[in-house]
Amino acid sequence: MRGGNTYFTGAAFRFPYKSLEEIRRLIPDLSEAEAEAVDVGSYPTSQMRADLVRVTDGRADPELLEVLVAGAYPAMLWMRERGVRWLLMYGRQAFEVDGKRRFWGGLLVEVIGGGPGLSDRLFELAEEAGVEIRYETGAAGLLRAEDGHIAGVRVEGPDGVGEIGGAAVVLACGGFEASAEMRVEHLGAGWAQAKVRGTEFNTGEGIRMALEAGAAPYGDWGSCHAVAWDLNAPPYGNRRIGDLYQKHSYPFGIVANANGERFVDEGADFRNYTYARYGAEILKQPHQAAFQIFDAKVEPLLRDEYRIPQATKASSDTIGGLADALGIDREGLARTVEAFNAAVQPGEFDPTRLDGRRTEGIAPPKSNWALPLDTPPFSGYAVTCGITFTFGGLRINTEAEVLDGEGRPIPGLYAAGELVGGLFWGNYAGGSGLMAGSVFGRIAGLSAARAALAFDVG
Ligand SMILES: Cc1cc2nc3c(=O)[nH]c(=O)nc-3n(C[C@H](O)[C@H](O)[C@H](O)COP(=O)(O)OP(=O)(O)OC[C@H]3O[C@@H](n4cnc5c(N)ncnc54)[C@H](O)[C@@H]3O)c2cc1C
Repeated sequence: MRGGNTYFTGAAFRFPYKSLEEIRRLIPDLSEAEAEAVDVGSYPTSQMRADLVRVTDGRADPELLEVLVAGAYPAMLWMRERGVRWLLMYGRQAFEVDGKRRFWGGLLVEVIGGGPGLSDRLFELAEEAGVEIRYETGAAGLLRAEDGHIAGVRVEGPDGVGEIGGAAVVLACGGFEASAEMRVEHLGAGWAQAKVRGTEFNTGEGIRMALEAGAAPYGDWGSCHAVAWDLNAPPYGNRRIGDLYQKHSYPFGIVANANGERFVDEGADFRNYTYARYGAEILKQPHQAAFQIFDAKVEPLLRDEYRIPQATKASSDTIGGLADALGIDREGLARTVEAFNAAVQPGEFDPTRLDGRRTEGIAPPKSNWALPLDTPPFSGYAVTCGITFTFGGLRINTEAEVLDGEGRPIPGLYAAGELVGGLFWGNYAGGSGLMAGSVFGRIAGLSAARAALAFDVG
């Protein structure tokens, strides 16, 4: 069960790049023919910064954000040099335009083998470097020397309880998404029932241990990353299915609740910038359920996850038949589709840009990619809210040192990954989680190594 949420990911990474040349440094085996057939554009540092500021309503910690955007591409190269292999995301992040695969939304690279490929390679590297891995062993508390320096962890494992001493500790054990109690306490009552998309082990233990040692809570404790996730998915992630219970192509259809009413702007932005906050909107609907509805025109645009046999789906030649098959109020859905179709304005449809093809006169509007639902068969996918990870956590500085309530580093304590607060508030930009974990993980490792060397000699 090793690998945490990282194992469940699609292993998509967000980083700035200037040109195809920089992408080719990450993917040296990209052939001339492949390079000719793609349009990767560019994703300037200023754009990545602006995207993260925009989706977090300006609340992303500016210092941490700067470290993230500046460190992202170097961290990608560093991983590549260590044998993490990259691939262009043809399937999920590109559409064909004028004979070329055009990438969109600041996200175009994934790890070969997805989350399992990434996780397995990182474990291999750790083992090659002589790192000892203790499976089935949980850290239960931090050890402190008399001078306050963190001196290791108290652990519970198959051989009982014990201590592991160390001159520095890096906490990288996830947020509190898998703790129903903490979700209810910090996110609200409805979150008790949310399905957990990934590991069942990220129960906030690392955050708790650090807070007990005097760390300051930081960031947005009241919200999280949560998406549209198959209604019948199991309560925690399934390592064979991975991320395929997600349903991320809603910008090409409409989303209705069990009353047949729409409740979000499906085309407010690229899905990379809306999907992480729409899970919370689904949670507010009757039965915490929603239905994504498409017609035959857009079916070929739907992502791979729509074609797995485990998808909770129905199709019908009529909207009424679809409503009956999925348990949606028949009249309600008919009214919604009729009003939606009448509101769609003309314009060019282009899934690789914000095409401005929108509705007029309905609430909520659909701001891009609005096409009438008029071509049977119609298909519908039943979803609920799947929580990915929580946004609130610990406060770190640019050296990944964990800070106490007065803003002073706790000597010997470092943190990276989901349990760091301050970067994401209310929303998120796809591919930033792994990137932030990599950038701050690398810094935390370097800082911890420096501290350990200093500790040993002095
Ligand atoms: C289905 C899914 C798809 C995703 N897709 C993407 C994507 O494509 N791109 C992206 O950027 N992000 C994605 N994410 C988010 C991404 O998974 C996280 O941002 C990232 O993996 C977090 O890394 P981490 O090291 O902080 O936590 P994890 O990878 O979850 O690792 C934490 C580890 O700590 C262990 N642990 C917990 N408590 C303890 C304890 N007390 N003692 C010891 N160990 C403990 C856990 O068992 C786990 O192994 C996705 C997440 C999910 C669930």
